[in-house]
Amino acid sequence: MADHFDLLVVGGGVIGLSVAWRAARRGLRVAVADPAPASGASHAAAGMLAPVSEVTYTEEPLLRLGLASLERWPAFAAELAEASGHDLDHRADGTLDVAFGTDDLAALDDLAAFTAKLGLPAERLTGRECRRLEPMLAPAVRGGLLAGGDAWVDPRRVTSALLAALGHAGGVLVRARAAELLTTSARATGVRLPTGETLGADLVILAAGAWSGSLEGVPPEALPPVRPVKGQIMRLRSPAPILRRCVRGVVHGSHVYLVPRGDGEVVLGATQEEMGFDTRVTAGGLWELLRDARELVPGVTELEVAEVAAGLRPGTPDNLPLIGPTVVPGLHLATGHHRGGVLLAPLTADLCVGGTGEPDPGLSAICSPLRFREGDPGEH
Ligand code: FAD
Repeated sequence: MADHFDLLVVGGGVIGLSVAWRAARRGLRVAVADPAPASGASHAAAGMLAPVSEVTYTEEPLLRLGLASLERWPAFAAELAEASGHDLDHRADGTLDVAFGTDDLAALDDLAAFTAKLGLPAERLTGRECRRLEPMLAPAVRGGLLAGGDAWVDPRRVTSALLAALGHAGGVLVRARAAELLTTSARATGVRLPTGETLGADLVILAAGAWSGSLEGVPPEALPPVRPVKGQIMRLRSPAPILRRCVRGVVHGSHVYLVPRGDGEVVLGATQEEMGFDTRVTAGGLWELLRDARELVPGVTELEVAEVAAGLRPGTPDNLPLIGPTVVPGLHLATGHHRGGVLLAPLTADLCVGGTGEPDPGLSAICSPLRFREGDPGEH
């Protein structure tokens, strides 16, 4: 194994693997270091590619990123499916946001007006129209908003396709933890593994998800302000598909969604908890998910439980990712994708290694890791 690379990616989740695959395809000598690739948040994720239905009024920069990445997904998925020979279960049949009470309906109206103002595809529907689209919806659903451009994908299929495609493109996977960033004359030069072995690189990209803030050797001024945000999620098995598209709603003040997979599985998520690095699946978390999902689609309680899991989203203070150079030459970040790392993977790869269409420079500015430095107004 060569121990010097053009690019060394620390972390093999959906973000690190997307960046590494794209770089290897461009002819760079690439390595990814990860003791358990694809086991982090990317393993737990539902896989919604839903920037429109997730939009909130205060998050326009995030919406811009999401739309730019959603646009890239069809080509990214096609290229990845071809390079790996894997089917990603990528579907673009839209997301249906539903409402029950008068307040929820008013919120949907506001969202419809906001999306119309931004020129985004979203159609306001009555309760009956919602049930015509999704017959398993509860009779209490009084209206909905169909974000026709939103899509979804199976993140586990994506990461296993990325691992295969990375190998085909000549990328090296080192199944080991990066114990420490190595620097020479204040420039990042590689990492040391727990065995003492070193991997050298012209450029190190830190893409270790929720763990990105704790790599030893990274100077404090370059350490990303990333924190773990716990999400519990369930996978239910249905003999026949119960939904045609993603369905979301706000129940008891919290967001709940159901994502159908091609094989009949339904993913039901997700809690958002500030619990540090705790990945225990709790009775209370699962109870809340089932209680809320049953309000949207009563039939879910009949389904077999296939799996319960918890993952740690890499959260940042402003909910925006950290992508690009740090103050340390030779060290870049690709982390902090919080609730949207699957959605943002193609854009992140383009921002890190260049892509088919050059990304709008405004998008790089939104993601710049330098925005939290003192004196930076951090405006987007
Ligand atoms: P991860 O997938 O966590 O990968 C980080 C990797 O780094 C891990 O493999 C880990 O082993 C490795 N690592 C850690 N430390 C080191 C080290 N020192 N050296 C080497 N490797 C290291 N996003 C969406 O877009 N749509 C969704 O529908 C969606 N649903 C979600 C549902 C849940 C319940 C959760 C938890 C998340 C969801 N997300 C969703 C968010 C998404 O999963 C994350 O934003 C994304 O997976 C982050 O990817 P990542 O590669 O940065 O991190």
